[in-house]
Amino acid sequence: MKLTPVGIVHSPFREKFGIPRQPGLIAEVAATIELLPPFNREEAVRGLEGFSHLWLIFGFHAIPPHTGSLTVRPPRLGGNQRVGVFASRSTHRPNPLGLSAVVFVGFEQAAGKVLLKIQGADLLDGTPVYDIKPYLPYADAIPAALGGFADRAPEPQLSVVFSAAADRRCTELETERPQLRALIIAVLALDPRPAFKGEEHERVYGVRLFDLDVRWQVHERCAQVVTIKIFT
Ligand code: SAM
Repeated sequence: MKLTPVGIVHSPFREKFGIPRQPGLIAEVAATIELLPPFNREEAVRGLEGFSHLWLIFGFHAIPPHTGSLTVRPPRLGGNQRVGVFASRSTHRPNPLGLSAVVFVGFEQAAGKVLLKIQGADLLDGTPVYDIKPYLPYADAIPAALGGFADRAPEPQLSVVFSAAADRRCTELETERPQLRALIIAVLALDPRPAFKGEEHERVYGVRLFDLDVRWQVHERCAQVVTIKIFT
């Protein structure tokens, strides 16, 4: 089977670090799917307006080639225990396809483009989308389902504060980057640092959101945003 992208994702996540590990963990993430020719026509999405959620089948385009390993080490198990690749949602899999259910806000047409507006995505900017399907509650929602080693959503780990300078800067930058403050808080609260963190009070971490370099430090379960700069 040869797959052709039907759309491309535009999201605030410009690098993998900081992206939530599943959709819905950060509701504030607003993204769009731009339909690509020849699918960029209203008729391709006609009827979708009655649905609140979509399934996206997409490509993990920003990963190295698969090594052939049949096991992976999920972050949910601390990153040091192996499970079968088909028992995980890891990006490292034989066919690098991802599956995410996202909130469907609506679609708009502008300048020959058809854009699907979505919320809560766990997708890198530029992700190719191979298929879009409406989420069917009667078939897809299974309240009694068991979640194995990932049976509940990860809890926020850190409280988040802003230095006075970062706070002012965030207010300025938010005019052109909707929900910026809420997005920064939600991303840092989930503590995107790798599993082993130790206590490195002085270490400054950085994450790229939109065109911004957001820097923060962690002290006693509190992340403080210290600078927000535009990448040049
Ligand atoms: N919900 C999907 C699934 O279950 O198939 C994705 C789960 S995967 C664990 C989510 C992670 O994939 C994100 O945290 C991000 O690091 C990574 N990711 C998102 N988009 C990607 C892309 N286009 N290429 C490579 N990695 C990506």
